Amino acid sequence: MDKGRIVIISGPSGVGKGTILKPILEENPDFFFSVSATTRAPRPGEVPGVSYHYITVAEFEKLLAEDALLEYNHYASGDYYGTPANPVREVLARGGTAILDVEPNGAFQILERYPQAITIFVAPPALADLRARLIHRGDTPPEKMEPRLKQAVWEIRQACRYTYLVVNDDKDACTNRVKAILAGAPEAEACRYENNTHLNILKEVI
Ligand code: 5GP
Repeated sequence: MDKGRIVIISGPSGVGKGTILKPILEENPDFFFSVSATTRAPRPGEVPGVSYHYITVAEFEKLLAEDALLEYNHYASGDYYGTPANPVREVLARGGTAILDVEPNGAFQILERYPQAITIFVAPPALADLRARLIHRGDTPPEKMEPRLKQAVWEIRQACRYTYLVVNDDKDACTNRVKAILAGAPEAEACRYENNTHLNILKEVI
């Protein structure tokens, strides 16, 4: 029986998961952030081995064949993303906290193996806000904007399968909500999905 806990954070690309997690990881050096393997190219500013392990398709397929991934996803873009299994298993065995930033397909695969995982979905306040963030990030060419937003709509529709839903309307407020969830603080109750079904972003994706 594992002593530790898995925390899954999902949310559309560009919603700000990295920014929210940064101070949490800095304040909790004992938390382990699972660095995924991916076949996509690094973005400016990303650090190999810290942001992702950047590997080739052949290397990724080798990991799959060796059953070395806890979950994985093959995007329509052709890119693979996956969670190396051993580091997470080691953290769980020593009673630590493993934080995984994965999209919903990966989250559901992990929930099959670890149904007790804590699941948090980070949503933008509105689709227009996500579009603005993607434009600001500068890595979404105009022809990729609609497919990315379509993907985001699908992901936000999956939020009902997560225990918690937090809106990134304000970076610090959102970080504090996630901190409360991780600490099991009473304020976390307000972040439960069932207490947030009125949110505009959910109405937008129906
Ligand atoms: P990005 O390319 O913007 O870094 O990530 C694209 C999407 O891949 C995000 O939704 C992110 O959560 C997801 N992702 C990152 N790592 C993994 C992983 O190991 N497994 C899965 N299933 N999704 C991942």
